[in-house]
Amino acid sequence: MILKNDELCVIKFFLDAFRFIDGATHSRTEKVKEIADWKVGIDNLRVCWQGGQKDRNCGKCEKCIRTQLNFLATGNPIPKSFPDYQLGENISLANVKLNNRVSRYEWKSIYVYAKKNKIKGVWVSKLPKIFNRISLVERILPLHSPRREFVKKVMKKSGLKK
Ligand SMILES: [Zn+2]
Repeated sequence: MILKNDELCVIKFFLDAFRFIDGATHSRTEKVKEIADWKVGIDNLRVCWQGGQKDRNCGKCEKCIRTQLNFLATGNPIPKSFPDYQLGENISLANVKLNNRVSRYEWKSIYVYAKKNKIKGVWVSKLPKIFNRISLVERILPLHSPRREFVKKVMKKSGLKK
């Protein structure tokens, strides 16, 4: 039995380690693979600050779903720190929308990792459709295009955007 204080230290250390993952040279999935055996840590893993309840992951936002996929891609179960962890490979991807190239890259890297490690599941086959989907705004106004810069300038002038 771990003392509560020690437990908190462990969790804090784990979260710091996990924060490091975001900016690391290894992909997120690779880092998850390294820490997936740390039961206390992953069962208390906190990646989401969007949900109404501040003491748990919402399980539904892009970051929550992506993190759950990081675990599945390494052949590990979804940790109990996500509300629908029992769904496992049947995780719902229906409402996932990726709003920028960085997210699309993250999702693609999960797909590449899963394929490379021969991870199977319906979720794997659904990923390309998600990371290849480009939003209407990006399609009409591609990043750094003269059209996008023009719209930005007009919005700034009209006070719609600072
Ligand atoms: Zn969330």
